[in-house]
Amino acid sequence: MRMKNKLSKMLIVSLCMLLIASMFGGCSKQSTNSFKAGTYTAEAQGKNGPVNVEVTFSATEIKDIKIVSQSETAGLGDKAMENIKNQIIDGQTLDVDTVAGATYSSDAILAAVEDCVTQAGGDAAAMKNGGKKPGEGKTEKLSTDVVVIGAGASGVTAAVAAGDEGAKVILLEKTSTIGGASNLSWAGKFVDSSAAIEAGLKVDQEKMISDWVENCHWRVDSAAIRQYVAKSGETYDWLAEKGYTTQFINFFGEQLHMLPAYETREELLKKMLAESVEKKGGQVLTETTAKKLITDKAGHVTGVVAEKADGTTLEITAKNVIMATGGYAANKEMVKENFGFEGVNGGLGQNIGEGLEMAWEAGAKVPDNFGGQMLHQTLASATEKLKTQYEPFEASYPLMLTYLPNFMNVGTSGARFRDEAATLSPVAAANTSAFQGAYHYVIVSQAQLDLLMEKGMNGVKAPSLPGMPPEFYLAWADKFTLDNPWKDADKVFDAMVKNGDGFKGNTLEELAKNAGMDEATFVETFKKYEEATKTGVDTEFGKTASFLIPNGDQGPYYAIKAEINNLGSVGGLLVNTKFQVLNDKRLPIVGLYAVGLESEGVLFNDTYVGNGVGIGYAFTSGRLGGEYAGTNALK
Ligand SMILES: Cc1cc2nc3c(=O)[nH]c(=O)nc-3n(C[C@H](O)[C@H](O)[C@H](O)COP(=O)(O)OP(=O)(O)OC[C@H]3O[C@@H](n4cnc5c(N)ncnc54)[C@H](O)[C@@H]3O)c2cc1C
Repeated sequence: MRMKNKLSKMLIVSLCMLLIASMFGGCSKQSTNSFKAGTYTAEAQGKNGPVNVEVTFSATEIKDIKIVSQSETAGLGDKAMENIKNQIIDGQTLDVDTVAGATYSSDAILAAVEDCVTQAGGDAAAMKNGGKKPGEGKTEKLSTDVVVIGAGASGVTAAVAAGDEGAKVILLEKTSTIGGASNLSWAGKFVDSSAAIEAGLKVDQEKMISDWVENCHWRVDSAAIRQYVAKSGETYDWLAEKGYTTQFINFFGEQLHMLPAYETREELLKKMLAESVEKKGGQVLTETTAKKLITDKAGHVTGVVAEKADGTTLEITAKNVIMATGGYAANKEMVKENFGFEGVNGGLGQNIGEGLEMAWEAGAKVPDNFGGQMLHQTLASATEKLKTQYEPFEASYPLMLTYLPNFMNVGTSGARFRDEAATLSPVAAANTSAFQGAYHYVIVSQAQLDLLMEKGMNGVKAPSLPGMPPEFYLAWADKFTLDNPWKDADKVFDAMVKNGDGFKGNTLEELAKNAGMDEATFVETFKKYEEATKTGVDTEFGKTASFLIPNGDQGPYYAIKAEINNLGSVGGLLVNTKFQVLNDKRLPIVGLYAVGLESEGVLFNDTYVGNGVGIGYAFTSGRLGGEYAGTNALK
C-alpha cells in the first residue's frame, strides 16, 4: 500500500500547510485554493472574436495569466482584460467585477480563466464567491438503490442498465458534461456485433482470446477478457435499441464501430438517462463531486458523500455504489510514480484519481499490474501555438509528419530507435516512443520540405494519408489530400522552432547541438539512415524500402518534438466478472462495483494494447456492471 501511505503523508503535509497558512491569515494573496500545478489553456468568446489564455498554476496559486491571442477593441477591451487579469492574480479570485463598457471582453477573460481553474482541478465556484461557497455547511441526505459515480460512457451505461433492472439510481458527475471521454472518441470494438456478422466479418473468438492473453504476458484476467469478447457484441444492439447507434466499419479486417456524430452524442446519452433513470424516480446530478465512500462496521460500502457545486454536502445512502470515475491520467505525479511517464495527458483534465483513492480507502486492492496507461500515438507539441499563427492545415504540418513512416525518428540521444512504420499503428507508435522517454524527434530536411511545398505528401512518397483521428482534420478535410502542396511549409517550421517546439540546424552537428542530442551519435545515425535509403536495406530496423526516403546532404535540418499522448490510465481496481471490487484477499467488497477505465486493468498488463477496446469495454462493463449492481440491490 505504498500509494496509500504516500497519500496519507501528502494529506498530513497538506493539512499542516493549511494550518500554517491559516495562522498567517489576513494577507489578501493568501489562498486556500488547491490546483494541479501546470499550465492550462482555454478560449472564450469576446466581443470581436475568441480570447485565448494560458494560465499557470502552482499547487495553491494562479501564478500567471497570459492573454495569448485576442481581437478586442484596442484601448478598451484589451485594457479591461489586462485590468481583470491583474485583479485575478492579486486577489487569487474570480470574484472580479466586469469593466463597464467592456462587458464582453471582461466576461471572456473571466470565463477562459475559470475554464483553466476547472481544468487544474480548482474550485471555480468558491473562487467566484470570495472563497466561500453559498452551500457550505449545509448537508442534504438522500437514499437510493444504486449510486453511480462518473458520467462517462461506463457510468451512463451502468446507470441506465441498473435503472432498466428496476433499481432507483443516482448518477453523480463532477463536471457539467455527460459522456466523458466518449464524447472525444472515434470508434469502439463490439466483437462479432450483429452488424459485423451481417457484413461477413466474424472473428475466431478462441484465437482472439488466447492471442490477447499471450500478448499481455498472461498477467491479466482471462475470464474478464473472455467475457468482453463474448458479450461486447450484444452491447452494439443494446446501444442501438436505445438510440445510440454506432456504425460498423471493416477497418483493414478489424471490426470497429464508429460512434454517432460528435455533436449528437451527449444528447443521446442524456435521452437514455431520462428514459431509464429520471423517469423512474432516479436523478442525474451534474457538477457534483463524490468525495468519500461511506462504509459500515463490517466494511460494506453503504453510500457516498459528495459535494455540490454550491458547497452543499450530499450524504447518499445506497445498497450499491458503482465507481466509474475514469482513472487518474490527469494526475501527473500519480502517473509518473506508477508508470514513469512524463508525456502529455490527452485525456480528461478532471480525472485525477479521486475514485481510486476513495475505493482504496474503503479497502480495495491495488492490483499487482497497477500503473498501465492508454498510450496512443504521439502529438507534435507545435500544433497549438501554430494554430494561433496559421490556418489549421498549415499548423498541422509538423503533426502530420509525426504520423508518417517516411521520416527518420530519433530519441533524445540522437540514435534511431524503431522501424518508423510503427507510426502506422497508434499503440505501437506511442509505446515504442515511450520506451525512449517522454518524447522523440522526427527529422525533416529542407530538401524534403521543398518536396512537400511542391507536391504535397506525394512529394515524400507518403504511402497514405496520416492516420490521424477525424477530429484532427474535419475542419480542413478538403485540404487533407496527398497531392495538396504544403504552402509556406518553411515558414511554418521556422515558426515551430521560434515557438520552442522544435529545433533547426544548418548542419547535422548544429541540429544535434540545438536539440540537445549527442552530436557523434546523431551524425552516425543520420549517415547510416542515408545509406539505407540508397541501398533500400535498413540493416538496423528492417524498414520497408519504399518508406526509406533520403534527407539529402544539404541543410538546414529540423527536429520536430513528438510527445507521447496518453488517453487515460488503465486500471486501479481489481474486479471479478460481476464487476465487484475486490479487497486485499481478492474477495468482493460488499456494495462496491467498478466499471470502465477504473477496472480495465483486468484486460491489460503494463500498457493498453487495443484498438476500440477503450470504448467497447466502457460501454460493455457499464452495461453488465449496471445490470449486476441493479439486480443485486433489489434482492
Ligand atoms: C481524445 C480521446 C480519444 C479516444 N478515442 C478512442 C477511440 O477512438 N476508441 C476507443 O476505444 N477509445 C478511445 N478513447 C478512450 C475511451 O474514450 C475511454 O477508454 C472511455 O471513454 C473511458 O470511459 P470511462 O467511463 O471509464 O471514463 P471517462 O469517460 O473518463 O468518464 C469518467 C467520468 O467521471 C467523472 N468523474 C471523475 N471523478 C469524479 C468524481 N470524484 N465525482 C464525480 N464524477 C467524477 C469525470 O468527470 C468523467 O465524466 C479515447 C480517449 C480520449 C481521451
